[in-house]
Amino acid sequence: MKTPIKHKLYRGTQLYKSMRPVLIIFFLPIFLFGCQTETAIKTKYDNFELVELGNGVYSCIHKFGGKATCNVGIVDNGSETFIFDSFLSPDVALELLNALESLDLSPVKYVVNSHFPNDHIRGNQVFSNEVKIISTSRTRELIEEEEPLQIAYEKENAPAQLAYYDSLYNSFNGDRKSREFQQILLWRPYYETLANSYLEVETRLPDMIVDSLYDLDGPDRRIQLISRGPGHSESDLIMYLPDDEILFSGDLIFNNCHPYVPHGDILKWSAWLDFMSSLDVSKVMPGHGPMGTRELIDRMKSYLRDLQISADIIAKSNTPIEDHDFSIPERYEDWWFDRFYEYNLRFAYESLVSQEIE
Ligand SMILES: [Zn+2]
Repeated sequence: MKTPIKHKLYRGTQLYKSMRPVLIIFFLPIFLFGCQTETAIKTKYDNFELVELGNGVYSCIHKFGGKATCNVGIVDNGSETFIFDSFLSPDVALELLNALESLDLSPVKYVVNSHFPNDHIRGNQVFSNEVKIISTSRTRELIEEEEPLQIAYEKENAPAQLAYYDSLYNSFNGDRKSREFQQILLWRPYYETLANSYLEVETRLPDMIVDSLYDLDGPDRRIQLISRGPGHSESDLIMYLPDDEILFSGDLIFNNCHPYVPHGDILKWSAWLDFMSSLDVSKVMPGHGPMGTRELIDRMKSYLRDLQISADIIAKSNTPIEDHDFSIPERYEDWWFDRFYEYNLRFAYESLVSQEIE
């Protein structure tokens, strides 16, 4: 099913105000994306699957039909535990706290916000004040600027969006295994979360800044936080475990779904991916979608490159972009968030044209 309606619950950043009306955020159905290479060690959580990646290293992979919407990493360096991203809502983050209690880990001391959107930061508030919230300086600014407006926007609009998806769900008479129905299952919990969570969300800003490289080594392993500036967003931050060869990429990498590109910078994003390729990486926890290998880095590179190639063809055709076909290339037909593709191609075209003017 293509976009049934335009989604207007994500306001966007200052940089791309013209794109604000179209974006929500990114999340996806884990069951539909492919195979896990690791074994889930717990299944009792409603919104995510807890997966052990190594001794003291875990990922919480969001479930299809759940409210987690993004993936969260857990890393114990032998003396302190680090959380990478904090989910879309405080109640899902409380489920994360339950998972943490079930694990024999060092005390949680840091929560990392990979970038600013709601799905990665709204669990910050459930952690005690002794826990440091880490982000880049630009991400902190964006959270401070955008969250009050975003929450107000959701308060006004999310109930109608939820009602719309409720009506689709309740009136659906087709094949419940169909992609059309899966799309309903995908989006409905998101709006349900937004329609309710503004009542409980209290924005907790990061209180520790990492703008380049920060080592958080412990007795059991090395941990690196790395920022190289804009990519998927105006400012991205990743977590890398060199001894374990595990990368927590945030939304610089999606697995089996279209990323939303217009918040970012395609060239700088590609440079980020080149940098990731230079690292020793065997496992990748993407921002959305199941765990994968370093192949995910190459797939995201290919996606951005294909967008640029398609944009170049449009630019050289000397015909208006409106005359062109925005159908999704066959290699990405199975990816979720297909509604993003047109926006991504338009953005790639506009980026290309603006570069040529410069
Ligand atoms: Zn995200």
